[in-house]
Amino acid sequence: MEKKQFERPYIKKLQAGMPSKFGMKSRVEPLTHIEDNGVGDLIKEFGSPLFVISENTIRDTYKKALHAFSIRYPKVQFAWSYKTNYLDAVCRVFHQEGSWAEVVSGFEYDKALGNGVKGSQIIFNGPDKTDEDLKKAVENDSLIHIDHFDEMYSILALSEKSGKKPKVAIRVNMDTGVYPMWDRFGFNYENGDAWDAINRMMINEKLELVGLHSHIGTYMMSTNSYKVAAGKLADLAHGIEKKYGVHIKYIDIGGGFASKNTLKGAYYPGTDTTPSFGEYAEAISSGILNSELDPRNLPTLILETGRALIDDAGWLLGTVIANKRLSSGNRATIVDVGVNLMFTSFWYEHEIFPAAPVSEHLEETTLYGPLCMNIDVLREAIAFPLLKKGDHFVIRRVGAYNMTQWMQFITLRPNVVLLDTEGKPHVIRKKETMQNITEQEVLPGHLT
Ligand SMILES: *Cc1c(COP(=O)(O)O)cnc(C)c1O
Repeated sequence: MEKKQFERPYIKKLQAGMPSKFGMKSRVEPLTHIEDNGVGDLIKEFGSPLFVISENTIRDTYKKALHAFSIRYPKVQFAWSYKTNYLDAVCRVFHQEGSWAEVVSGFEYDKALGNGVKGSQIIFNGPDKTDEDLKKAVENDSLIHIDHFDEMYSILALSEKSGKKPKVAIRVNMDTGVYPMWDRFGFNYENGDAWDAINRMMINEKLELVGLHSHIGTYMMSTNSYKVAAGKLADLAHGIEKKYGVHIKYIDIGGGFASKNTLKGAYYPGTDTTPSFGEYAEAISSGILNSELDPRNLPTLILETGRALIDDAGWLLGTVIANKRLSSGNRATIVDVGVNLMFTSFWYEHEIFPAAPVSEHLEETTLYGPLCMNIDVLREAIAFPLLKKGDHFVIRRVGAYNMTQWMQFITLRPNVVLLDTEGKPHVIRKKETMQNITEQEVLPGHLT
């Protein structure tokens, strides 16, 4: 018989919380498989750490979101937010489902073109579009969302040279009852800047104003703020129709829906508090439908949802490096996943599961990453079973922003694997090598 691992006894204060009729929850169920792939097998084949993305989950989530909006509003179009996860394989799954592309830089714009998205189905957002970017977007008939007056003048100058009439929208920021307000992007609604921008464009006639855009924030828990935003954009569209007789083709309400992750310090888990797609859709569609807009000629509703469409589809698999006791007596477990890969651990309390059945004995544990840096903490305090060196674990809901905001810092970035609709794994981004890093470096002659 194998000798059991020693677990030190300790005294635990029972927290007054919300026990069920059986008492406090004191078990951690292991997460042994990701869609029929054993966690250990995946790590054996592709290494640790390892990002795993499920194509089925992406497609299912997308279909649910589209359905929630389509049953409430007649014309709906999603545009995939590239910065949320711009791995080509991920983008192509969204494009296959019918999503356009929403990009915020020249680099992302080129990535969308490379993924076969038609120019006219690329929405170009963001405050930093170079003249070269704008020229390309005008030539390709893309939808340029103007962020500030300087950009408007650049596009006007370009349109004079190219003889094309660029298709533009303006980004509008506004008070939706959620603070701090994101007023650094676009033109403000309440102070009249939005109307100022609209009037200058309509008088000039060198630009075609096709849309109105807002993106009020990210991880927005308040559905009512979307109702307010949609209502204000609809009022602008109605005002433009009345004043200029011009029909606005679309209202783009941006992204920002919360995912089911739990924010740090939240009392209830995100799975209990996050509004559903249906609740967001209800708020947004009533904001538009209750406006003065002509119901027989409604604008298309565009959504640039990022986080809520991809977070659930990503897992991060890792391995325990060591356990130790801190001077406080608390247990610390050191793992091979750091904040360099898990940018979102700065604001989420990610759910973390052992990958194999473990003891029922939970102890408050701090989970540290492998970086030689004090802020490298995945979870400050998680009720966790004792995992031994070499044991695997799974972090849930990491699909949004981690694979774009990750850093090459101290270690190299690992493989990313996509499980196709049959569950078969494919590497969609190879782990980095020393050469990837050093080929960008140049040694001056006197140092060779
Ligand atoms: C980041 C961003 C999105 C996506 O936001 P999520 O919070 O991930 O849904 C959409 N539109 C714009 C303009 C953005 O900057």
